[in-house]
Amino acid sequence: MIDLHTHTTASDGSVSPPDLIRLALQNGLEAIAITDHDTLEGADEGGPVATSLGVELIVGIELSTRFEPQLVDLIRPWVGSRRIPSIHLLGYFLADAPPAAFRSWILGHQESRRKRNIELVEKLRGFGFDITLPEVSKLGGKLTGRPHFAEFLLRKGYVKNRQEAFDLYLADTAQAAVEREEPGLLESIQMLRQNFGMPVLAHPVRLPLGDHPDGLRALMEALCAAGLQGLEVWHSEHSPEQQALYEDLAGSFGLVATGGSDFHGTHKPSIGLGTGVGGNINIPKLRLDSMRAAASAAKISS
Ligand code: AMP
Ligand code: FE
Ligand code: FE
Ligand code: ZN
Repeated sequence: MIDLHTHTTASDGSVSPPDLIRLALQNGLEAIAITDHDTLEGADEGGPVATSLGVELIVGIELSTRFEPQLVDLIRPWVGSRRIPSIHLLGYFLADAPPAAFRSWILGHQESRRKRNIELVEKLRGFGFDITLPEVSKLGGKLTGRPHFAEFLLRKGYVKNRQEAFDLYLADTAQAAVEREEPGLLESIQMLRQNFGMPVLAHPVRLPLGDHPDGLRALMEALCAAGLQGLEVWHSEHSPEQQALYEDLAGSFGLVATGGSDFHGTHKPSIGLGTGVGGNINIPKLRLDSMRAAASAAKISS
């Protein structure tokens, strides 16, 4: 078994990269990808431990992106005037390490997150909450994300649980939402392709298209034209019906089907590494082999 979607203390997970590798070994996983938000530091740090313990580690990343205007126009028939949330794109570096150009590109996104966090604190103070950024940042590592805000609001007793913090305040469509500067989705797909990364669309269930198969197909066509190579079919938040729909979609667009738990440690306590929620995912090593095959086929044809 493998898990291709995990977070560490380098972003908004609660488990350090070395501990995550140890946990993977304990859970009997053959391979894991560390896919922290907008940073490669977790994957970098996990490398030596993975080598010494004999767990295969894939260097990955999860980028927060936004639809370019042409994508917004494309999906309007299905979403109407609803606000479009941030779209997550996974990137996997299967054969070559991420080059310096890619590393400097992601540094810009970390800066936009810092600005967002400052604004988010202001908005939350506007709701009468006693909150400062250093207090929230203390709950995390190098990068402060919204799960740390959720944890803070919970500890202060402002919300009943972490999900309520998102639903009422932190979600992209909630009261305290702060629009952040993000790279375009098409731009990010191309950026990964130019830098040895395999772009995979994360948890399609969170797309504003929901379960509209026609809308999803229109979107997939545009993303494939830009160089998308995979779709995250298996994910903790996908129902069996959704998994079937996404597997079908991946098949018809020639995309590699990938999967992962989206493990965040105690910040999302219901998600188990490699197993998802209540064992709702179970990803064989074979999937990683298919990704590698697709990556080398693309390399030969390019
Ligand atoms: P950030 O990268 O700081 O913008 O935070 C994004 C992270 O917050 C996502 O990866 C999820 O872990 C979490 N998140 C965002 N929106 C929601 C939501 N509506 N419900 C639960 N968790 C969410
Ligand atoms: Fe996260
Ligand atoms: Fe995500
Ligand atoms: Zn994630």
